[in-house]
Amino acid sequence: MRPTLTLLAVLTASALAAGPVAAQESVLNLYSARHYQTDEALYTNFTRATGIRINRLDGKEDELVERIRNEGAASPADVLITVDASRLEVADRMGLFQPLHSQVLEARVPAALRTAHWAAFSTRARVIVYNKAALKAEQVPSYESLADPRLKGQVCMRSGGHPYNLSLGGAMIAHAGEAATEAWARGLVANFARPPRGGDTDQLKSVAAGECGVTISNTYYLARLMRSSAPADQATMRSLAVVWPNQATWGTHVNVSGAGILEHAPHKAAALRFLEYLASDEAQGYFANGNNEWPVVRTAVVRNPALESLGSFRADTLAIGELAKNAATAQKVYDRAGWK
Ligand code: FE
Repeated sequence: MRPTLTLLAVLTASALAAGPVAAQESVLNLYSARHYQTDEALYTNFTRATGIRINRLDGKEDELVERIRNEGAASPADVLITVDASRLEVADRMGLFQPLHSQVLEARVPAALRTAHWAAFSTRARVIVYNKAALKAEQVPSYESLADPRLKGQVCMRSGGHPYNLSLGGAMIAHAGEAATEAWARGLVANFARPPRGGDTDQLKSVAAGECGVTISNTYYLARLMRSSAPADQATMRSLAVVWPNQATWGTHVNVSGAGILEHAPHKAAALRFLEYLASDEAQGYFANGNNEWPVVRTAVVRNPALESLGSFRADTLAIGELAKNAATAQKVYDRAGWK
């Protein structure tokens, strides 16, 4: 997962070798924090359709953002692709993106899933998952319900500082306000079965093992376990049940994978073509299904039995850019509430 220096060396060398100005648009330098094998088909098809070759630098989100900032005006990066709105917001606040103008994206990506500087290309929901032997769905209908004192010692969560939880907090602040979100976080912390540790999958395993009764997880982690042939993963899923949170109030919190064109992109036209390609019906299938996510384009069809088995739900309609803006406030709220 570490950025490969060799790849960047190759990238720089090939950029230099490109020479004549006319050849410049045949290359796209993509900084990617998506690590899914299935994305390979996406890149191959883009090159086949456009003749534009992709030089990809894979890395962790924070490291790529740091790198782009340090490279400054000399950065070879054209596009940054990453997951989670709050991470895209961090890059945006640093001024790393340029304004995004595209009639194709405006027509195909719903307005609530775009900002002035980046667009979402797939969505994932943050759902409540409980142990069927410990709890009933009626006890955990909403994010807010996990702060109910009756669930003392039953809640497992990953770190409050993780972008997934910051974005959730950002949404709650938008709907309920900062004070209510802080009260919720305090109640949640008071219900912890153990201090936060691990990722979403670790929480799911803890709930299945009975270490706790309930947690919150992104949907693709559930889909991954459902599609796994490993007996341990199948046993984990047999113990769990999923609730679409907040169906009676503001809807289930949804986050995104997204991308933006960088301020100093050397190949701006190629970058725009790539983002527009990501919104094509074909690419939407690869992009979303590569990580068991939903496409953002309504006409794109994804056949994903694991996702389909979760059923339909009412999603929060809050603009993704709005909740992302609240993520920094969510961090302060969680700090005050002691959600480490
Ligand atoms: Fe994840």
